[in-house]
Amino acid sequence: MAANNGEEQQQNQLIGHQDLAHKSLLQSDALYQYILETSVFPREHESLKELREMTEKHPRNLMATPPDEGQLLRMLIKLINAKNTMEIGVYTGYSLLSTALALPEDGKILALDVNREYYELGLPIIEKAGVAHKIDFREGPALPLLDELLEDENNKGTFDFIFVDADKDNYINYHKRVIELVKVGGLIGFDNTLWFGSMVAAPDAPMMDFVKHYRGYVIELNKYLAHDSRIEICQLPVGDGITLCRRII
Ligand code: SAH
Ligand code: CA
Repeated sequence: MAANNGEEQQQNQLIGHQDLAHKSLLQSDALYQYILETSVFPREHESLKELREMTEKHPRNLMATPPDEGQLLRMLIKLINAKNTMEIGVYTGYSLLSTALALPEDGKILALDVNREYYELGLPIIEKAGVAHKIDFREGPALPLLDELLEDENNKGTFDFIFVDADKDNYINYHKRVIELVKVGGLIGFDNTLWFGSMVAAPDAPMMDFVKHYRGYVIELNKYLAHDSRIEICQLPVGDGITLCRRII
């Protein structure tokens, strides 16, 4: 920080700017580093580390799931004994590999993303980790793929865990579909539900355009989830905020 000139400091205060010290909403950089170094990195699988370091060099690295959140996903998947899972929004695969490593040998992940090239950046590392056989990757916009799944009654109520981490403007549309695909007692995780903390930013706070653009959709989703009686919810401030939804009916 001390080396920053005024202009750089101003840039770094721009909500959503790539040069933020980290993606966590924790206000103390030092405390976040402490969590990573004490509890997360010593437990991070070598392939996850490799995937994370590879992704750090990619221009869209801001999208990647942070390692502490990957650890949370692995814990959740094991706690609920998940076997049949889905991920909407793969990018280079940090959350995907976290899920794949936590699942049992016969576990499955249906992985949806519009961009196969991103997925293929991480695929050699996922293969090396020996878990690629658990992944069924489908390229394309997720919404029509979900509608296709819902056409077959046999798919309804069959997923133990669904992680939603793609286009935020479709989150409510995803919710309307994944709620039917997840089983009663199963879990949906919506990622980035605190959206860089932008929902409580001052009206004149400087904000990256993409943050401003999706902010309203995330606010709408949060209100929607809070009033949906089909689920129990838990909003966690891990990463950029993750809302866990347990289907109850
Ligand atoms: N879970 C990932 C991060 C996902 S980033 C990780 O752990 O790193 C969001 C992803 O959503 C991007 O890869 C983008 O290509 C994808 N995406 C955007 N719009 C989409 C859509 N309509 N359908 C499916 N995927 C989409
Ligand atoms: Ca995310």
